[in-house]
Amino acid sequence: MDSKTIGILGGGQLGRMVVEAANRLNINTVILDAPNSPAKQINAIGQHVDGSFTEYESIVKLAEKADVLTVEIEHVDVEALKKVKAKFPHIEIYPLPETIKLIQDKYLQKEHFIQHGIAVAESVALVNNSKDELLSIGEKFGYPYMLKSRTLAYDGRGNFVVKTKDYVDEALEFLKDRPLYAEKWCPFTKELAVMVVRSLDGEVYSYPTVETIHQNNICHLVYAPARVIPTLAEKASLLAKNAVKSFPGCGIFGVEMFLLPNNELLVNEIAPRPHNSGHYTIDACITSQFEAHVRAVAGLPMPKGFTEFSTTSTNSIMLNILGDRNVPDAELQICRRALETPHATVYLYGKTTRPDRKMGHINIVSSSIEDCQTRLAYILNDESYLSK
Ligand code: ATP
Ligand code: MG
Ligand code: MG
Repeated sequence: MDSKTIGILGGGQLGRMVVEAANRLNINTVILDAPNSPAKQINAIGQHVDGSFTEYESIVKLAEKADVLTVEIEHVDVEALKKVKAKFPHIEIYPLPETIKLIQDKYLQKEHFIQHGIAVAESVALVNNSKDELLSIGEKFGYPYMLKSRTLAYDGRGNFVVKTKDYVDEALEFLKDRPLYAEKWCPFTKELAVMVVRSLDGEVYSYPTVETIHQNNICHLVYAPARVIPTLAEKASLLAKNAVKSFPGCGIFGVEMFLLPNNELLVNEIAPRPHNSGHYTIDACITSQFEAHVRAVAGLPMPKGFTEFSTTSTNSIMLNILGDRNVPDAELQICRRALETPHATVYLYGKTTRPDRKMGHINIVSSSIEDCQTRLAYILNDESYLSK
């Protein structure tokens, strides 16, 4: 299994968990990112490339050490990747650079989905980021509507809710120097997500449909499976698979969706990489999202049922551990309580703490969601989580 070396652009927690999965299969991984980044701490120390996934020269250095290149983040230099493919034709790059390019621009992503019959919220690209433009969008979409940066978005930091026309100036002030588009407001009842992995031969496999709960635009909890009727979970799974089928190439994708009050589903966005909503798979499923990605890009087998819950753990809750806003490292108290909790597994990413930074996560697995909730309430020392 160790014949291919996988080069990973980006050395954060997602890369780190890909490395963990690859290590178990004796597959070598090399990382391109800043020195001592989370993924570099746990493998092939000494062989990594220090630099940025937005620099051609650094990507070339990574390519010189790898047979396959993949990404843990979509904000990489796609033109550099294309040049690298031309320079080293034997190297495979998954996801395909064209896919990354399309997904990087959230408006182009939306247009792509519309062309492929995938339901998304109505949206419009801004031309000159002017007040008049925002006001006329308000007339068309009504208020509130969502103003979004087309590029470099994460954790909602490129988004601004235009609540009424009085917020137009503030919205422009916040986002004015970025390429923008506006999206109709989605009054969702839940946010759902599905991890989908695509194999080299084009087959797609979906993980269970999950429910994501955000706090301050950052994923806080994931409930797996989603607390929706089975037909809806199945509908979400089909939508996610169709969305992923619209991209050639292989690897894992995270598909975020809105569930509307009339039970309609809209795709919010897609990530061409492992995704926060899939962390529960490490403990709950037969094969984790990270191993599935390794298998896909390395061309290894993906047998029937490998994305399913393992038989003993039919429910899971994932809790993100964010850097405490007031006292550095105070979030570790939560991890200590998790260590005392049966059926809970703690993952720490090896990062220096900062307010709201993703420092780690906790997976709780059990045979019922109520039991997961009881354990979560203990870990967070907050009984309100018994019924969230
Ligand atoms: P991520 O960290 O998931 O990459 P992001 O910065 O790309 O986030 P989005 O996923 O577009 O941002 O939006 C963040 C959150 O904002 C969504 O999960 C959802 O809660 C809310 N949101 C986004 N678009 C809309 C919309 N059109 N209507 C209502 N809420 C929305
Ligand atoms: Mg995003
Ligand atoms: Mg998102």
